[in-house]
Amino acid sequence: MFSRINILTTRPLASSTRLTTRAFSTSLTRFARAKDPTIPNSSIKVFREIPALRQWRKQQLLDHRNVGLVPTMGALHAGHLSLIRMAAKTNSSVVVSIYVNPTQFGINEDLDSYPKTWDRDTQMLAELDRELADEGGNLGKIAAVFAPTTGAMYPSGPPGQEVASKGSFVTITPVGEVLEGASRPTFFRGVATVCMKLFNIVQPDNVYFGQKDIQQTVLIRQMVKDFCMGINVEIGETIREADGLAMSSRNVYLGERRRKVAMVLRNALRVAEGSYNLGGRSRDEILGPANELARLLSFEQLHLSPEERVRFEVDYISLADPETMMEVDVVDESKGAILSGAVKMLPVEDPQEGEDLGLAGGPAVRLIDNIILKPVKV
Ligand code: AMP
Repeated sequence: MFSRINILTTRPLASSTRLTTRAFSTSLTRFARAKDPTIPNSSIKVFREIPALRQWRKQQLLDHRNVGLVPTMGALHAGHLSLIRMAAKTNSSVVVSIYVNPTQFGINEDLDSYPKTWDRDTQMLAELDRELADEGGNLGKIAAVFAPTTGAMYPSGPPGQEVASKGSFVTITPVGEVLEGASRPTFFRGVATVCMKLFNIVQPDNVYFGQKDIQQTVLIRQMVKDFCMGINVEIGETIREADGLAMSSRNVYLGERRRKVAMVLRNALRVAEGSYNLGGRSRDEILGPANELARLLSFEQLHLSPEERVRFEVDYISLADPETMMEVDVVDESKGAILSGAVKMLPVEDPQEGEDLGLAGGPAVRLIDNIILKPVKV
């Protein structure tokens, strides 16, 4: 629900994707019909409806067990697992939610093709739970997966995905309107709404979010503060592939050709960080070299032949206040700043026979990443 790589496509899904989606719902439905279901080879409970989860939660309270929640949209990877590890350190019971939330997807986005890998996800959770038990040093375990039906999450029916849709929404402004929110106008409304619901249902003491989606972390903190929710929000570092690309459930859409160029954003942000570390404090000093690098890399690609090249568009490279995500002209050294960016990788031109184009035929993929510029100690 929370990764910020947006797929802008109206193409029909590849048949393999349709199968994956169908297989996901079948296995999850079959699973949930069992009485008191648990994930195979584990004691992790699976809840699909709210009343049973509430009852379980009440018992946690009576047993003096604190509860940590890690919200996800499934298609789990090492980034999600690191948040669960973090939660298990200080919570007796960790709940992982898996729910692909329709209201945070725009009408032309990838709701239908979003990767759904229930069997693999549950296997990963069972393995991680065994590791946590063997490691020592962890307070708790993965106690439950909450994989709600859309009927449970949206009792009055899910509102449409259009900007003008009516319904019960949580909106957090201005943070939800800028950057990712400017390009995806319904996105943060969907995120805040679904997180409010998850927090109300699970009643966690602590919630865990990844720095990879930094604007989301600022928005959730703001929501918890402004709605007096009494929940502690913890942020986990971004987990990366070997070359530094931030892990994301949506990287599977990239395919081989675009994957090789996908580091453009990370590299641009690193150059900007370098300027800050060398003493640059103004927007021009910090973002100038990043924009220049992105321009040069784009130019380099455009001079390759269509069957080789990768086209991308920089949506934004931002230098923002760490508490509000509002743009700053000069970094306040006592606060530091957030460098963040989004790049749209366009579908490849001239696909070659047998070329790996990525899931769903390689639609446009929006990559996001960020670096925190730390305050300077005086
Ligand atoms: P998602 O399933 O993509 O909505 O993500 C669920 C949670 O995992 C969010 O809090 C994300 O910020 C976090 N997350 C996603 N990718 C990473 C990553 N590479 N490193 C750390 N956390 C991540």
